[in-house]
Amino acid sequence: MTPQTPVRSEATQRPFGNGRSVSLFTLGTMRALAGPEQMAVVLRAALAAGINHLETAPAYGPAETFLGQGLASLAAEGLGPHGGWRITSKLLPLGDLEAGRRQLTAILSRLGIPRLDSLAIHGLNRPEHLEWASHGAGAELLAWALGEGLVGQVGFSSHGGNDLIEAALATGRFSFCSLHLHLFDQTRLPLARSALAAGIGVLAISPADKGGRLYDPPPELLADCDPFHPLELAYRFLLDQGISTLSLGAEQPQDLAWAAALAGPAATWLSPAHRAALERLAAAGRERLGPERCGQCRACLPCPSSVPIPELLRLRNLAVGHGMGVFAGERYNLIGRAGHWWEQSNAEACRHCGDCLPRCPHQLPIPELLADTHRRLAAAPRRRLWG
Ligand code: SF4
Ligand code: SF4
Repeated sequence: MTPQTPVRSEATQRPFGNGRSVSLFTLGTMRALAGPEQMAVVLRAALAAGINHLETAPAYGPAETFLGQGLASLAAEGLGPHGGWRITSKLLPLGDLEAGRRQLTAILSRLGIPRLDSLAIHGLNRPEHLEWASHGAGAELLAWALGEGLVGQVGFSSHGGNDLIEAALATGRFSFCSLHLHLFDQTRLPLARSALAAGIGVLAISPADKGGRLYDPPPELLADCDPFHPLELAYRFLLDQGISTLSLGAEQPQDLAWAAALAGPAATWLSPAHRAALERLAAAGRERLGPERCGQCRACLPCPSSVPIPELLRLRNLAVGHGMGVFAGERYNLIGRAGHWWEQSNAEACRHCGDCLPRCPHQLPIPELLADTHRRLAAAPRRRLWG
């Protein structure tokens, strides 16, 4: 199933913090890394899809260099979005002020631009990262960058817990944030709504990939979402929530097909037919999981052995409830291998102490379900996923 809607030349844009408005979709540049030619091809497709916001980072290898070259080649042909590209790059939360200055200067040099629209702290995942960004060298760096006019606004991306994200937003230092917001992982949606209400821009990190490999859905998921594609439903759900922009890491022009199809203004993002499909999808998951469905309420925490119970049982929900075992297996096998970007303990850390049992409102046999999660997912292939 592929999108049928023709490409539009004018895209709907949304406010993004204190910066210029951005397109509904943001081109992530971490996948078009074969060379500047590939990046230019993807840039052209993004332009045709109504995209004006680009996201990159030094951590994406040669992405910034290729992006700078791709932008120059499009500019030489007079190609670019109305009002120019909006560009966001990101810096890891470490190092002193001087190192940060050098990094930002190098970013601008690689991109061939005098100023970034938006600079994000890349992976504000731990309390020490927030300390660095709000009181340490990071705070000095951000103030310097804003004061010098080298960046238009500052924000952060985070894979951390809700408490940390809430604390970061509450500092008032950040104008935008990039969060994991997905149809199949809605735990951060209340935070996103609060941020939007406060005028903070919100980018959803890769709903297609991190949201469940929805570009390659399993048969169960396709059937449950029929007549819509799961990715279309996921995108429409997030747009209906008012999320500022959805990131999409394209490797080839076809990867931008849904972005092109959904680029134009819409009277409503979720028609009655879309809402009915979402309800059928949820009902199918509930039916397959039966009484073993984890409701994601987090009442079982804290676990004395630091088992991330809700996160692990969410993966089980996806595998059993929606046939998404490949995605769940990838995520499960990354545990303990991705530093502060993902969980540190898998289901084997459960010591069967039973502390969590009386706290679960659904009376779930948590240790048994964790063991089942490990049996189902531990042997699946793994890959490194950037945030
Ligand atoms: S039974 Fe396992 S998951 Fe539950 S609190 Fe004890 S160690 Fe943690
Ligand atoms: S308390 Fe029960 S339903 Fe809630 S997140 Fe924990 S295991 Fe899931």
